[in-house]
This record gives sequence, C-alpha cells and structure tokens, in this order.
Amino acid sequence: MTRSGGCQCGAVRYEAVGEPQHHAVCHCADCRASAGAPLVAWMAIAEDQVRVTRGQTTTYVGKTGARRQFCPGCGTGLFYTNAEMLPGIIDIQSATLDTAADEVPGAQIQVAERLPWIDDLTALHRFERYPGQ
Ligand SMILES: [Zn+2]
Ligand SMILES: [Zn+2]
Repeated sequence: MTRSGGCQCGAVRYEAVGEPQHHAVCHCADCRASAGAPLVAWMAIAEDQVRVTRGQTTTYVGKTGARRQFCPGCGTGLFYTNAEMLPGIIDIQSATLDTAADEVPGAQIQVAERLPWIDDLTALHRFERYPGQ
C-alpha cells in the first residue's frame, strides 16, 4: 500500500510504501515540546520506503541526536529519525497523512511522561463546534 501526506501549506509532500511496523500515540515531553501539542501520533516505516515527492524539509537536531523534520514554510512536523535508537526507521507524524482519519493507532507510548489531565479528556464536555453554537 502507498500512503501519501504533506504539510499544512502544501510545499512538502511525501509518499510511504509498504506496511508500517507500528503506529502509536506518543506522550513524551520531547514530542510535546516539538509539536506544541499534548501528544503526537507516529507511524513507523522502513526509512527506504518513505520519500519526499515535493519540496524539502528542514531538520532540527535535538539533544539525543533525534532529527525532527518539518516544513520550513508552515512549520508542520513531518518526520522523526534517530539513527542510534531507531536505526533504519522513519517515524511519520501520522496526522499529516491524507488518510489520517482511517489510520487508527495501535498503542499509546511514553505514558509515564503524559500530561496528567490527559486521562480525563473523554470526560470533558464536548461541543460539535464551539460553546453557544
Ligand atoms: Zn508547509
Ligand atoms: Zn515522543
């Protein structure tokens, strides 16, 4: 199967072929800081099965040698690689896939670092759009 995806502004597009090795929602502080969001979903695929088909990413190299690639124009996070910890693997921020709604994660990881209120998220009142509408 070939999946495609890209950033918010459309400058960067990519394709991933084959089946993912895993797909998980990560609660770690590093992902949180990078995304500016409570959690990030990642789909792991063999590095040679993913290619950028349009544009170019910019890379931020973190303390642990982790490389986070994002669109230089709009800032959307796209890929994570860590040659030491995850050799041969590229993690795709799966919410950037065109098929994101159909890609159900199989697990939650780094739960030890989660924001404490995340456990009660489903108990919060839900508005289809915004309050008062
Ligand atoms: Zn972009
Ligand atoms: Zn993480």
